[in-house]
Amino acid sequence: MQFEPVIGLEIHVQLATASKIFCGCSTEFGKPPNTNTCPVCLGLPGALPVLNSRVPELAAQLGLALKINTESRGKSRIGITRIHMEEDAGKLVHEEGGTESMVDLNRAGVPLLEIVSEPDIRSAEEAKAYMEKIHAIATTIGVSDGDMEKGHLRCDANVSLRPSGQEKFGTRTETKNLNSFRFVQQAIDYEIERQRDEILDGNTIVQETRLLDTDRKVTFSMRSKEEADEYRYFPDPDLPLVRLSPELIEKFRKNLPELPEAKMQRFMEEYGLSDYDADVLTASQEMSSYYEKVLAEGGVPKLACNWIIGDLTRVMNESGKSLKEINLSPENLADLTKLIEHGEIGSKIAKTVFAEMLVSGKTPETIIEDKGLKQISDEKELGRLVEELLAANQPQVKQYREGKTKVIGFFVGQMMKQTRGTGDPAVINRLLKEKLDG
Ligand code: ADP
Ligand code: ZN
Repeated sequence: MQFEPVIGLEIHVQLATASKIFCGCSTEFGKPPNTNTCPVCLGLPGALPVLNSRVPELAAQLGLALKINTESRGKSRIGITRIHMEEDAGKLVHEEGGTESMVDLNRAGVPLLEIVSEPDIRSAEEAKAYMEKIHAIATTIGVSDGDMEKGHLRCDANVSLRPSGQEKFGTRTETKNLNSFRFVQQAIDYEIERQRDEILDGNTIVQETRLLDTDRKVTFSMRSKEEADEYRYFPDPDLPLVRLSPELIEKFRKNLPELPEAKMQRFMEEYGLSDYDADVLTASQEMSSYYEKVLAEGGVPKLACNWIIGDLTRVMNESGKSLKEINLSPENLADLTKLIEHGEIGSKIAKTVFAEMLVSGKTPETIIEDKGLKQISDEKELGRLVEELLAANQPQVKQYREGKTKVIGFFVGQMMKQTRGTGDPAVINRLLKEKLDG
């Protein structure tokens, strides 16, 4: 039997406010436990909450942005059920190897927005892409810093299966607290497999809350629906109803920056990028604005894009550093692309220069000068080296002339070695062929 996965995400976005939602306590990350607390966020009786007015304002801005950032051609559409404001909870810290747990309430009262999607998602990959889009939009409009390491974006993934062609949804599980794009994909992929196996074994799916074991890449049951906490909500009489004026909403709409979808289209039109390249670049505000800074310094659009989404991203992933921390000036990257474009350095040397720029922060010109990496395309100079090489390797020359033309690779390799990678490969190849064939 064929099954179709049905997925809905509840994404929590931490808002970029300096203080908590109902008190003046700081939202700063990494403070000693329970230092960012007061009677209000500790929930002590008699404490009077006062709403941080930034919170509904940011909620409205995200609402507007999600409405405007509608799908472009050829993409799937994922409905959003609602966005609501929430406050974060405290955190339990379990004593290692011991039996005690400690509570840290620094996070209690930190404002969040929860974005609930319709069950419109059909694969783990699509769920990941959707979460990345929400991240891109939230960081672009600045409602959240979107720092995944600090848990600024977390999601609960609801997953069910239904026989292909069936309208009615199956029973779902909810895997909680997934705090990276990769974990979302892992959890959903695992749940799809697990539920399929259960159904094929004749078992029924139990509606329950699960967690992802990130080491073993499996989900496990946390609590079933029956044991689920019955949350009771009731209005707090100390909190008046909040209404944002139409004028304020209009002001927010006018002040929205260019959204990722529009930016992606513009990158394709203005810079001739593929939709893949434009999509990757506009996935984060930091990256797209860095890219435009490189172009403003005269960077070559396609080359600059390749370096940013290729080598630079790899270095960021490997070192765990942000773009800011890597500190590669847009000017230096722009210069590197110009040197490549003008044929002054080849791709191999470019990699050396790039690595050196990250270490020393020197300009590519200085690095090329200091290390003698300028590309040699001078025919006379290369011609002389080719002749020397052939004279010193007569057996290989003989082989070539007897039809073993593959040995040309050996000669090219020797030439690159001789020139320490600075010889122009096109010129070297041509000269070698001329001399060997002639
Ligand atoms: P509740 O309010 O009981 O938590 P909701 O109806 O608000 O449930 O849904 C919560 C999330 O679960 C939403 O993102 C929704 O799209 C998703 N969802 C609901 N039913 C299913 C289902 N059968 N399979 C997968 N996801 C579902
Ligand atoms: Zn407080």
